[in-house]
Amino acid sequence: MMLRSIVRSGLRAQQKWAVAASMSSAQSLAPIVNPQIKQTGIFINNEWHKSVSGKTFATINPATGEEICQIQEGDKADVDLAVKAANEAFRFGSPWRRMDASDRGVLLNRLADLIERDAVYIASLETIDNGKPYSSALAVDVAATVKCLRYYAGWADKNHGKVVPLDGDYISFTRHEPVGVCAQIIPWNFPLLMLGWKIGPALATGNCVIVKPAEQTPLTCLYVAELAKEAGFPPGVVNVIPGYGPTAGAALTYHMDVDKVAFTGSTEIGKLIKKGAGESNLKRVTLELGGKSPNIILNDVNVDQAVENAHFGLFFNMGQCCTAGSRTFIEEGIYEEFVEKSAARAKKRIVGNPFDPKTEQGPQVDEEQLTKILGLIEAGKKEGARLVAGGAREGDKGYFVQPTVFADVQDNMRIAKEEIFGPVQQLIKFKDPKELLERANNTEYGLAAAVFTKDIDKAMYLMQGIRAGTVWINCYNIFGAQAAFGGFKMSGNGRELGEYGLQAYTEVKTVTMKVTEKNS
Ligand code: NAP
Ligand code: MG
Repeated sequence: MMLRSIVRSGLRAQQKWAVAASMSSAQSLAPIVNPQIKQTGIFINNEWHKSVSGKTFATINPATGEEICQIQEGDKADVDLAVKAANEAFRFGSPWRRMDASDRGVLLNRLADLIERDAVYIASLETIDNGKPYSSALAVDVAATVKCLRYYAGWADKNHGKVVPLDGDYISFTRHEPVGVCAQIIPWNFPLLMLGWKIGPALATGNCVIVKPAEQTPLTCLYVAELAKEAGFPPGVVNVIPGYGPTAGAALTYHMDVDKVAFTGSTEIGKLIKKGAGESNLKRVTLELGGKSPNIILNDVNVDQAVENAHFGLFFNMGQCCTAGSRTFIEEGIYEEFVEKSAARAKKRIVGNPFDPKTEQGPQVDEEQLTKILGLIEAGKKEGARLVAGGAREGDKGYFVQPTVFADVQDNMRIAKEEIFGPVQQLIKFKDPKELLERANNTEYGLAAAVFTKDIDKAMYLMQGIRAGTVWINCYNIFGAQAAFGGFKMSGNGRELGEYGLQAYTEVKTVTMKVTEKNS
């Protein structure tokens, strides 16, 4: 099948992420179901290394539960070497620091081109390592990563400071300078895309990076490191340390010679990252954490469309989205119809082999997540929510969960409060729109929200009242490299993507010069 038609069918299956296919070549887009694993090492100074400790760890195919290969396990000793290399690459006067800003853009564009060249291989790697449907890996993850890198390539020579009208005989201006050596800790739900979101702005603005991919999903990140070398990034600018959070991740967080850490993952670990920064060198911290996002459906909607949107808003990526619309608030007048249709839609969802183009839902990422999700489903049943679809594990091989829908969910139930990160939808009835805002905001999180209605006044009123970093109106999970993303409250600190995303990777330097009149 041609790339375009796979991309199209992927987008149809998963709905759009505002990432129309930019890939236009005539290459075959059929997946490689058993991709050769090329990189399993630690990447420092554009070279591949074994771990100092000699330890390795397994990465698992979640569709089968079987080991794919062993990966070198980096920890503090390897982190020390990477930090040294990155600081050397960042030294004032180094090739990277002297490179024209426009040439940093050229390198990023080249990296995007190489990812596009190897799109099928990379999407196949993502599918065996993470379990997500191949159609989605190609149409969403790879395509959006390429777009993100190209977007930030464009910013490389456009992120400039201001001239400041300082009082007195002075000329004052600001420069936007790179922060320095940035640790970037990546989650397993979008391994490649989160890598793109992090290295794009960091490299565009002239930083050096040390990436730690999630232990469950290191493969695409390691392959992209090799492509960064092929693109021509100087040694030490891009480094990758595969390994575990409490060892490699913590060593980066506590390191005195790391200037910044950018983290995406759980709120619990986000707190540890801030603590580590505070207990070491007060490195800059940006956090993109969890959510329990309200998706609000008013009486006036087209119910079939709203059901489909809410289904996508929750079940996309096996429910493993920080933005998942995991509290669906439905106005009383359409509630029963919405419940019935949501249950029917979930029962129709195609679960299975992620390489099959018809598959909408693959396995959860690992056994730990499977166990956590099944535990929360049991809590939902026990606390009296009405189970209308699914409710159990699917099969006995791999980590599959039945698409599950609970109706009559009450605000104080665990499934309405905790991030499930799985294919479990909560349908909640509401009557009074004023009271609704209070209920929607009654969470420690504030990542995303959505409102579905034809009434523009109600949409704007609710949008203003919701405390969240992103509000979608009559759509869900629409992202683009141009639009900032991040959380209010305990969903995070700082923003990724868009022009705002540059701020996280730059320091502002104020330069003030005395002007002396020659004739005075
Ligand atoms: P997590 O522990 O927060 O993992 C995210 C990243 O942080 C991984 O690279 C992890 O490394 C690393 N890490 C773990 N402990 C660390 C530490 N002490 N210092 C520095 N880095 C550390 O998430 P998880 O355990 O995989 O998933 C648990 C829950 O987090 C999920 O159920 C979900 O609710 C949430 N989650 C949210 C997102 C999101 O996009 N916001 C993404 C993933 C998970 P290792 O995995 O290699 O140990
Ligand atoms: Mg894996």
